[in-house]
Amino acid sequence: MHALTEQQVRRSFVNCSQGEARSLTLPKDFAALDWAALALLGWRDPKAPLRGYLVLEDGERPVGIAVRAAESRMSARTTAMCLLCQTAQPGDAVSLFTARRTGAAGRNGDTVGTYMCADLRCADRVRAEIPPWLRERDPAEVVTERTAELGERVRAFVDAVRR
Ligand SMILES: [Zn+2]
Repeated sequence: MHALTEQQVRRSFVNCSQGEARSLTLPKDFAALDWAALALLGWRDPKAPLRGYLVLEDGERPVGIAVRAAESRMSARTTAMCLLCQTAQPGDAVSLFTARRTGAAGRNGDTVGTYMCADLRCADRVRAEIPPWLRERDPAEVVTERTAELGERVRAFVDAVRR
């Protein structure tokens, strides 16, 4: 991604009110992010327990999606998979998130949901947690490929929110 300012991030949200976008809390490491390495910026709101945010590039423009985590959590004894970065993890590290759809559908309470890493740090995970069956390949190539695939899955989710 290209680096974004705080204002660009706040203005990018398409499925929450301007008030919500203004009051959300940015990730703690916002000033130190390695933007060029990220397929998207995802984080949980440090001050609002169930809220989270995904910001990515759609062509030249940033698009932000506010999501809400389900209150119920899966057991740490089971294995679950994040459907964005496709990393298998203990169940309590994956959460069901819903996003309000844009426009009339959203105003009628329509949402789109999917399982994602509970911390929404999929962009770090595709770089740092390479599955065993990919470890024999060139690491730089694997990271590039996984980052691109993550970007495609997140864009498909954003398209479902905006449809
Ligand atoms: Zn993930």
